[in-house]
Amino acid sequence: MIRILIDHRTPESACLACGASLSAAAGMPGEIAKPTEGSVSICVTCGHVMLFRADLKLRDLTPEELAEVHADERVAEALAAITKGRPRQ
Ligand SMILES: [Zn+2]
Repeated sequence: MIRILIDHRTPESACLACGASLSAAAGMPGEIAKPTEGSVSICVTCGHVMLFRADLKLRDLTPEELAEVHADERVAEALAAITKGRPRQ
């Protein structure tokens, strides 16, 4: 189960899909969220998967990175937790 709490403040960055303002990261269970370059970020508003750049702003993944991330069951678990119970639009 994903902990929904703010572990770490990040520079404010807009979600590249929905434009939501993102300025904090929450970690996976048992991990402290301290994103570095290449850490995966999932928008809590729309579930869009992005990566942190060196300046901790967000960028989209390359097709190769996207395939790698979607093969990671932790990402699937996080996406399920984020989208579960979300009101339909
Ligand atoms: Zn979003």
